Amino acid sequence: MISLEALLDQLNENQKEAVVYNDGPSLVIAGAGSGKTRVLTFKIAYLLLNGYHPSTILALTFTNKAAREMKRRIADLVGHERARWLWMGTFHSIFSRMLRAEAERIGFTRDFTVYDASDSRSVLKSIIKEMQLDDKVYKPGLIQSRISYAKNNLITASSYETYADLLKSDAAQRIPQFSRIYAEYAYQCRKANAMDFDDMLLYANILFRDFPEVLDDYRSRFQFILVDEYQDTNLAQHIIVKRLAEIHQRIAVVGDDAQSIYSFRGANIDNILQFKSQFPNSKLFKLEQNYRSTQNIVAAANSLIQKNKAQIQKNVFSEKNKGTRIQLISALTDTEEGYLVAKEVADLYYQEHDPYSDFAILYRTNAQSRNFEEALRERNIPYRIYGGLSFYQRKEIRDVLAYFRLIVNPSDSEALKRCINYPARGIGETTINKVSDSARQNQVSLWSVIGDPQFFQLPVNKPTAQKLLNFHDMIYSLSVEAQKLDAYELAVKIIKTVGINEDMLEDNAVETLSRRENIQELLTGIHEFCEQKVNEGETQIGLTDFLSEVSLLTDQDMDTAESTDKLTMMTIHAAKGLEFRNVFIVGMEEDLFPSGYVSSDRELEEERRLFYVALTRAEERCYISYAKSRFKNGQLNFTHPSRFLSDIDQALIDLPADFRQAHVEQPKPLEVYNKNMPPQRPSMSSGPVSSWKRLTPGASKEEASSDTVYQSGGGVTIGNKVYHEKFGTGVVLALEQMDGNWKANIDFGDNGTRALLLKYAKLKIL
Ligand code: ATP
Ligand code: MG
Repeated sequence: MISLEALLDQLNENQKEAVVYNDGPSLVIAGAGSGKTRVLTFKIAYLLLNGYHPSTILALTFTNKAAREMKRRIADLVGHERARWLWMGTFHSIFSRMLRAEAERIGFTRDFTVYDASDSRSVLKSIIKEMQLDDKVYKPGLIQSRISYAKNNLITASSYETYADLLKSDAAQRIPQFSRIYAEYAYQCRKANAMDFDDMLLYANILFRDFPEVLDDYRSRFQFILVDEYQDTNLAQHIIVKRLAEIHQRIAVVGDDAQSIYSFRGANIDNILQFKSQFPNSKLFKLEQNYRSTQNIVAAANSLIQKNKAQIQKNVFSEKNKGTRIQLISALTDTEEGYLVAKEVADLYYQEHDPYSDFAILYRTNAQSRNFEEALRERNIPYRIYGGLSFYQRKEIRDVLAYFRLIVNPSDSEALKRCINYPARGIGETTINKVSDSARQNQVSLWSVIGDPQFFQLPVNKPTAQKLLNFHDMIYSLSVEAQKLDAYELAVKIIKTVGINEDMLEDNAVETLSRRENIQELLTGIHEFCEQKVNEGETQIGLTDFLSEVSLLTDQDMDTAESTDKLTMMTIHAAKGLEFRNVFIVGMEEDLFPSGYVSSDRELEEERRLFYVALTRAEERCYISYAKSRFKNGQLNFTHPSRFLSDIDQALIDLPADFRQAHVEQPKPLEVYNKNMPPQRPSMSSGPVSSWKRLTPGASKEEASSDTVYQSGGGVTIGNKVYHEKFGTGVVLALEQMDGNWKANIDFGDNGTRALLLKYAKLKIL
């Protein structure tokens, strides 16, 4: 165990002050990489060394991964034993744990299900249908995000109508039935003994508001409260923290207003800006030295964020090496972007001997990952993707989890609908609809109806009623078993009993094999989960515990195998708080980053902060790439480099030769084929008309499917060797149609790169 002195020796003066101040509320506002998370980590270690019991400390992080990491660091500093009983996790995981303990008070049972986004959407869809509303107007996704927004602002379904402001907006007036849908949704969730993600925070607030004795209990339990990434808390989170800290006032929060990037989920930057007024005696600490990044990266990030009007001025400097300039990679197409980035990764890997785990590719949207995946696979570069379709979202896994959910919570109607006819039991859609209707009319759960079809006068024939009863009885007897078995034993039993095994054994198709493997993987995961909990001193690990853990994984947490050497791919949102030696920020184009959905200066500033977050993840090297054309919804679009590129001090960034041209020649720059591309790249090499056609967005359907385009280009394709009377031989780098004429960009070696109209150029193909 480390001594207090040795602990504090690992901090600079400002950090030290922040760590040892524990007499009242404190706030650290500081730029990226300045050690905010380190201050929290060391503060907890400091408190533990000063005799605080770990179970009296509550630390809230943004992702489960961040919590695990922090716990590991603390265990390294003060020993595993001391770190073990800390309350550390995301808001959702900590408060769902509390809600399970107190569930009965607010009308749930401790086995409540956590509905994920697709469960919620499915409930909403059926409500919209049932209410006979137009789902083009009442789009389930839109309704879902409005409900989420309301909950994050502590507006319940029953109080919604009283918020005149919310009802007045144009958007709200287009969906006048919203509050009815919200109320019905809340009712359906309650009936299913289910909470959605946002409910965790809403109900925690309700619990504390309506049960002062519970609040008192937790208030006296937590002697100290710490919150990381405070700039991205929403009102519901802020009020929880405020209530818990109200008496003892020992609360420490850290954040950076320049990294507030979750306002679309209801995060409110005012929480950090108004901390002082909420906690009048709070002390403000500033940290200015960035320990993460080279001087160049810090300066580039500073120059970028200066362009935002709304920000707290900060002085951030680095004493690390100056470092290399930011490298810009310009690609002709999105496919080529993937190729060039993968090539750079491979080069660095062999030249610098950086392991793959030192690399990250960060993008604005999950959909961008595919090109990089393909390019990395071609080079055998191992990678891991966070977010996207996770393991737990795969069909076979969702099927099995639905059984688990139903067995621990038979009221879970979404789970019931999913498993009642999988594997096939002859219970068709019509029957399920009848069950749903009856449940609604009788105000009971689907489970109650299938348990006694006769009583509920379900209009089905005898054999069907029997099938429903059989299913009911099978689930019921498993739920009896659930009382005796641990999570792993029960999971094995369920998979055997409900017929999934047989279903999977039926054919040997590759997909079936991989589905079987996935289910095996799930069982292994449950086994490990049980062992880990036993190691942590817990007994009686039920399936509820496992489900609770799984349902609270955030999109940032999907992969837990952290030890292997893999490159990381994730959205910038997910990369918050992390750091990598080499960072590639990709897809730096208008309409992608900043996103095409931006409609106000405020939103544009948030996008710029997002770019700031991306830049500041880099320790040594930062690359930014963009493609000049990109496939979107099956269509090729020409793009422009992101305006944010010119926000960075141009002395700190290496622009490729053609960048200025691309940037100045608005609106449509001539597409330039990158010289660094080896000619053997199949999809880009000479000849294939298909790849050439991909570069002609204006081509009509007929053109695209015939040779017309080919002919109108005079037979020239990208990669062709051609001869020009004046400039000699050259290679065609790019083609573009302009006002019905074809323009080629041709590299004539010593005679330079020329843009020529084919109509006049009289090229000879060699
Ligand atoms: P972000 O805003 O991105 O979340 P942060 O302010 O939380 O950043 P940390 O992640 O705590 O910053 O620190 C950035 C890096 O600098 C980490 O690797 C951390 O260990 C290191 N670091 C911070 N302070 C010191 C210090 N005094 N001595 C050595 N390394 C430090
Ligand atoms: Mg941090």
